[in-house]
Amino acid sequence: MTSKRTPELVTAASNQTVEHEEPGIGYVNGHFVPLMEAAIPLLDWGFNKSDVVYDGIPFHEGRIFRLDDHLQRFEESMSKWRLPHPRTRQAMAEICQELVARSGMRDGIIYLCTTRGIPPSAEVRDPAQFTSRLYGWSQSVPQLGVDDTGGLSMIISAVPRIPETSVDATAKNFHWGDLIQARLEAGDRGAQNAILLGHSGFVAEGVGFNVFIVSGGIIRTPEHDCLKGITRRTVMEIAAEMGLECRSDNVSPDELMSADEIFITSSAGGIFPVTQIEDQSVGGTGTAGRVTTAIRDRYWEWRVMPEHSTAVDYTHHTLGD
Ligand code: PLP
Repeated sequence: MTSKRTPELVTAASNQTVEHEEPGIGYVNGHFVPLMEAAIPLLDWGFNKSDVVYDGIPFHEGRIFRLDDHLQRFEESMSKWRLPHPRTRQAMAEICQELVARSGMRDGIIYLCTTRGIPPSAEVRDPAQFTSRLYGWSQSVPQLGVDDTGGLSMIISAVPRIPETSVDATAKNFHWGDLIQARLEAGDRGAQNAILLGHSGFVAEGVGFNVFIVSGGIIRTPEHDCLKGITRRTVMEIAAEMGLECRSDNVSPDELMSADEIFITSSAGGIFPVTQIEDQSVGGTGTAGRVTTAIRDRYWEWRVMPEHSTAVDYTHHTLGD
């Protein structure tokens, strides 16, 4: 059964009651709780300094997609951030199973976060002396609103992506300041979402997604200033399976604007065509392209194939509260 709760939150700013309902389960440093009860201590540097890495692991029809690949990337993100691993890979896999099983949800996404933790005492500010903490939750996936062309409208944001020499984009992190500003700019300019450029001037990635173009039958995706998405990797593998050429290299804004097809990829949303870029119809038609559609269809087959996904056992819970 899906766990639902309707807490009453009083916002400090407006003093008004906010009704909010969210299916899912939270995991706070060893304990499972209803999603809307899961909370992080204010003193945790994951909250007050964004000193946190995370991963988003989707499940569909009761099967978790590429669980071990996600957990491997999560461990790599922790190592890049010099965060001690709070649990073994096996323990994290069990937590993921449990977050889905306890929620009763068949479709959604699991998030796992490792934070630096709470200072061991008021005097200690050396992050090397902290004990890292593991948080997680399962939730439904937000539905991306496509327009009547079946695709999304995008801008190329004026906000550049944080340079990868400052914040390593390949460690999945919560430094979303640039991404959120770009998303706000998209709203201001009447578009649904935004693609950011790196400081080099080449395309980096979007607000929580990787970007692909198709030109002359060749698929390309940026190599730098972006997370190496698991969906991105899946697209590359599907392209190879289909005998399509797919390259990871520099993509210029001009190449983006003149592409035959553009699509975006993320674990939360899957694969979505972009049909409008900077108020221009992509590929002259403004409809989802042939390559995009073929890869997206195959992607959803992969999502439930036993070689790429793990079945959730909903019948028993193995871990305590
Ligand atoms: N880029 C950023 C900044 C992201 O946050 C995400 C996912 O959240 C992605 C790309 C897509 O990665 P994945 O396919 O692993 O979800």
